[in-house]
Amino acid sequence: MNENVHQRLNLAGDAVQRDDDGKVWLVGSKCSACGKITFPPTEVCPECMSEKILPFKLSSHGTLYSWSLVHAAPKGWDLPFIAAYVDLSEEVRVFAHIVDADPSTLKMDMVVEACVASLGKDEAGDPFESYAFTPVKLGES
Ligand SMILES: [Zn+2]
Repeated sequence: MNENVHQRLNLAGDAVQRDDDGKVWLVGSKCSACGKITFPPTEVCPECMSEKILPFKLSSHGTLYSWSLVHAAPKGWDLPFIAAYVDLSEEVRVFAHIVDADPSTLKMDMVVEACVASLGKDEAGDPFESYAFTPVKLGES
């Protein structure tokens, strides 16, 4: 993994991976004892309290469960933004921003894919990035 890319993912750290083509995955954790998958990654299984946890690469695509247009946030965040819950096929519900989308076009269960987006600026005025999801555009796989 490209070191520069890694450093720019300062909000999500190891919870995001991106390959050379720009494809993005979230990395959760999977319990070796009961199989429960969680995101963000945890050190203790919320299901069975096991500490035998391994990193687990999640699907890059999910479906939109619910969302809200947010107009007020701590200083630095780009406003307004769309906050959403996205369901992944591993039965994991991820809280994330939806980017590059017109809120009026969002629909429940629409397919979205993971990406990395600039979500605001830090105190020094530098943009910060984190994982987000964006609607899958027609004609793209
Ligand atoms: Zn467990």
